[in-house]
Amino acid sequence: MNFKSVAIDGPSGAGKSTISRKVAEDLGFIYVDTGAMYRVIGLFSLTNELDLTKIDIGMKYIDGVQHMYLNGTDVTEDIRRHEVSKAASDVSARPEVRAFLLESQRKLARENNVIMDGRDIGTVVLPNADCKIFLTASVEDRAQRRFLELRSKGSEVTYETVLEDVTKRDFNDTNRAIAPLKPAENAIIVDTTDYSLEKSIDVLKNTIMDKLGDDIKQC
Ligand code: C5P
Repeated sequence: MNFKSVAIDGPSGAGKSTISRKVAEDLGFIYVDTGAMYRVIGLFSLTNELDLTKIDIGMKYIDGVQHMYLNGTDVTEDIRRHEVSKAASDVSARPEVRAFLLESQRKLARENNVIMDGRDIGTVVLPNADCKIFLTASVEDRAQRRFLELRSKGSEVTYETVLEDVTKRDFNDTNRAIAPLKPAENAIIVDTTDYSLEKSIDVLKNTIMDKLGDDIKQC
């Protein structure tokens, strides 16, 4: 069977995961959040020396939600902690970490219809994806969304800290030597600044449907 793949790249906090998860559900694709994989390694690195031979990453879908496991322990919640974001960004600059995750990401796309989100999906992981999207929004907008999300989870973080953090992660992600964040040559740019979540979902879904056309009806 010929599976379809949609690559969604873009900076932190553009709403990639929330929007992509919903669109994948509507289209009957599986949603793969590759940032969660880097987060698992980031979490490990907070308390251990980074030795990839000691890391076993598990992934399981429970009621459509991607659960992540580190050496058998469910860390789905843990990897969303503020300090893990920074650790994930740091480990993701290491070539051996990227190589470690690459094959498992490609395998998922070989075996499923996927919407895969990350930073280098259209450029490196799935260069032949059927549809490539670069999902972005202004840095202030993205910081505001992340701030509200962290606050709703009980964090006492300030908007200024989040803005500084998002700006730093943008810098790290766009300037690293290996697989830097940039739109793939043939990516469609979708800017969600000032869009509601509903509107962002609509725009993304329509963009993907336009691009895949009749193919999507056969999926
Ligand atoms: O998407 P999320 O913010 O959860 O990703 C966490 C970190 O993992 C990002 O800051 C980014 O540095 C890294 N990442 C990456 N390549 C991907 C997905 C995420 O480098 N494909």
